[in-house]
Amino acid sequence: MLPEIAPTNFNRIPDGTTERITVTDGEPTRIVKLRHPTQCILWQHLERVAGKFAGFLEEVEAYEDTSHLTRSLYKCLECGQLYFHEWYEWVDWKDGNDKQYSTLVPVQTPEEIAALKQTNVFTLMTYFPRLHFDGGKPEWKGK
Ligand SMILES: [Zn+2]
Repeated sequence: MLPEIAPTNFNRIPDGTTERITVTDGEPTRIVKLRHPTQCILWQHLERVAGKFAGFLEEVEAYEDTSHLTRSLYKCLECGQLYFHEWYEWVDWKDGNDKQYSTLVPVQTPEEIAALKQTNVFTLMTYFPRLHFDGGKPEWKGK
């Protein structure tokens, strides 16, 4: 009989910037905590991401642009905060009811941007905080 293993363990590392999650199978996943963009209008008024960004977010650089995935860097015109943005369309061939996801990750340094460019649609989810919206209510994860 196999020993019982707790499904998830959170261990806070003293500096407060990183956390590790241990899952029962596989490697520990590194959680990356970024500075909270508390000065930005999006931090309190996340409903502003609904619809178009036009008016307060400006695209600085595009990294990927395909019919199902776009990744680019945006800048808040008001406070200068940079956001790594991913838009992803999950193609469901069965009923053609494709789901769309958008994520904004507040970034500051070229190192953070470089690291985010190396992520995929799944590992991007190890970054906190991030603003997630999929057509429903936008939500800050890790606020
Ligand atoms: Zn801002």
